[in-house]
Formats: sequence, C-alpha cells, structure tokens
Amino acid sequence: MIKRDLHVHLYGCLSAEDLWLIGKDRYKKHQTSLSWYAQEYAKAWGRTPQFQEYWKSDSGLDLLKADYIFAKPNNFARFQANFNLIIALCSITPDSFDIQEKIIKQVNQHGLEYFEARTVIPIKLQDHKVYKYLQGLCKVVKTLNTELPMQTRIVFSLFRDNTLASKAYRQLREFMKSHPELSSVISGIDFAFAEEGSPPKSKKALFQQFKCDNQNDRPLDLLYHVGESFEDKGIISAIRWVWEADQLGASRLGHAIALGVNPENYKEKMVHEAVEERIDTIRWLIEHEEVLKEHGYQPNIKRLKRELNTLKETKQKTVTITYNDDYIEDAKCLQRAVIRILKTKNATIETCPTSNLRIGQVSSPIYHPLKLFQQMGLNCVTCTDDPGIFAIDWVSEHRLAQKIINMDLANCTE
Ligand SMILES: [Zn+2]
Repeated sequence: MIKRDLHVHLYGCLSAEDLWLIGKDRYKKHQTSLSWYAQEYAKAWGRTPQFQEYWKSDSGLDLLKADYIFAKPNNFARFQANFNLIIALCSITPDSFDIQEKIIKQVNQHGLEYFEARTVIPIKLQDHKVYKYLQGLCKVVKTLNTELPMQTRIVFSLFRDNTLASKAYRQLREFMKSHPELSSVISGIDFAFAEEGSPPKSKKALFQQFKCDNQNDRPLDLLYHVGESFEDKGIISAIRWVWEADQLGASRLGHAIALGVNPENYKEKMVHEAVEERIDTIRWLIEHEEVLKEHGYQPNIKRLKRELNTLKETKQKTVTITYNDDYIEDAKCLQRAVIRILKTKNATIETCPTSNLRIGQVSSPIYHPLKLFQQMGLNCVTCTDDPGIFAIDWVSEHRLAQKIINMDLANCTE
C-alpha cells in the first residue's frame, strides 16, 4: 500500500461520516453558509440538496452521502459543488484546530508513514489572525508528530491569482522567519484551484522570488497542479504548460495528465484554443526544436512558421483543434519526447488515479497517464488527492495504480 501521500488535500480527507458528525453539532449555526452550499449545488447539479434533512431525517447520513461522495466521473464544477459542504461546515479560524487534528489522527490509523497535507492560508483573515492561525496549526502538527508514528508536513496551496498568491506567500515567509522552530513542519507551497487562464509563465516573478528566498531562508518545495484540466486548449499546449512548470522550478508536478494520458481519450473531440495560446505553443516548438528533436520529436518548422504568420494576421479569437488521427499521433510523439527530457531533469509526477478518472476527464484506466510514465521510467508517486470525498483509501488507490500499470492495452476491449 501507499506509505507516503505527497498529494492530498487535508480537508478532502473528510469522509461523509466525518462531515455528518461535524455538522450534527454545527448545522444550526451554519445556516447561512449551508444555504450558500445549497445554492451553488443547485447551479452545478440542477437540484437543491435538502441539507436540513442530513441531520433531521433518520436516513440523513445516506442523503448526505448521496450528495457529497463524488463516486462517478463528472466535471470539476460539480466536484467543487460537493466540496462546498466542507467549506460550509468547516470554516477555518485561528482559534480551533479540532478538525485538522481529527483528520491527521484518522489518517494515521491507515498506517501511513508520511502525510504531506495541503491546506490554505485563509485570505479573508487579517494579518495578525493569519499568523495566529499558522502558529496554531503548526503547533498541533508538531505535537501530533511526537505522539503518532505518522509524520505530517503541511503544504500551503496558493490561489492562481498573483495578488492573492503573493500576499499569502509573503505572510508565510514572514511567519517562518519569526517562528523557525514551529514552521519546521511546513514543507512547501503549491499552486492549486482552477488552472485554465493561469499559465505557469504568469508565475515567473513569484517563482524567481521563491528561488531567491530558498537560497536565503529555509528552502521549501514548490509544487504545482498542472496539465490536470485543459478544457480551453488542446493537449499539445497543455503539454507545454507542464514543461513550463518544470522549467520554472517546480519540485513536483501535480497530475500532469496532459503529459501521459493516451490522447485517444479525446478522439474526435473539438476544442477552441485562444489564438495567443496557439501562438505561444508554436513559438515554443520552434524555439526548442533542437532539444525536442534529440528526444524523438521533430517539429514541422516550415508548417509551424506558416501557421504563425497566418495567426499573427487573423482577427479570430480562437482556433479550432480537432483530435483527429494526425493530432493524436503528433501529441503522442510530443508526450514521449517531453517525458524523456523531464527524465533527464529528474522530474517527479504526483499521480492521483481515482481523481484523474473522476474529475480529470480520463475516460478509462487504459488511458491513464500512469501507464506511460511507468513504461518510460519517469519518477512517479501515487497519491489520493481527496480520499474522503472520493470514498477511497490508500489501499484501494494502490490497487488501482497497480491495475493501471499491469493493464495490457492490446488485450483490452474497453
Ligand atoms: Zn490536488
């Protein structure tokens, strides 16, 4: 089984039962946030959850389970709608860490040796309250690390928005400077939440600051959710995003589905990619022709230059990309070249099989990226992402990873 989880969101570990128990004592006081949850849920799912019944009805736990557990593949907006129940019931405050403590103790019971949990720095709190929160959370984790066999580290997930990310990052570094002992349980920062619209290159300044701080202060890992969701562009541009995140210095790449998913997964699909995105990708292919060629991918430079000239003149906002046979073959070849290049740089992918099948639009385990990563010897760690909401655990996730690795594509009829 998985002994260390390096990509897991702390609150995503809450099971339906946990939430039901938490809500039992709180739901009357959390009516406003629960009404918000119900409204958002209705927008995503087209039906309003009867949240009052979760704690009033005899079958309340079953109702909550049906609304909360994300058991089947669906889109990210619906996943978020389910996750909102956690947000509605478990507001983060600087005064209480009961829930965080409960989660860590429960995960410990699963026999994990190392638990690197991601959580957020609450953006609505004033600075002094943020420091109080960081202090309280680190204290709890430090104490639990002396009591439990499992060692926990905290990673703070930052928003993609540069202003919000910079503010939280500054607060974190200031806290680390003033509390070197306590902050030793913090192992990194992460970029999470909606990926579309925030290319890694937009983080250049922040990444440079991070590198500089890592030289002057205690170094942290830089983790990055990338290539997980690319509804707004073709897979070739999404592969470029994974490359860019690595180039900018990410210590580990979260999901990187685009880099390894079998592009047949999207056969005949059409996407509308922004012209600027396509231009960025063409320039990237031209600029890196040599290294890509050395690793088995030959960009068609003449054709790319022609396309670039046309796109520079166009008044259109998007280009249509169709996953036809040519595009799929091209993407497969590019994936392999980029994997070979990332291997030379010792890149590590955090792969989350269930998450990718349920919210990552990977339609079958036979297309899962882990298969290719494993075949090509790219460093990979299997992780659970949000085990509570997916109703999985470290044993079942390990089994799924093994199933994917052992799958024989040739004998598969799916
Ligand atoms: Zn994640």
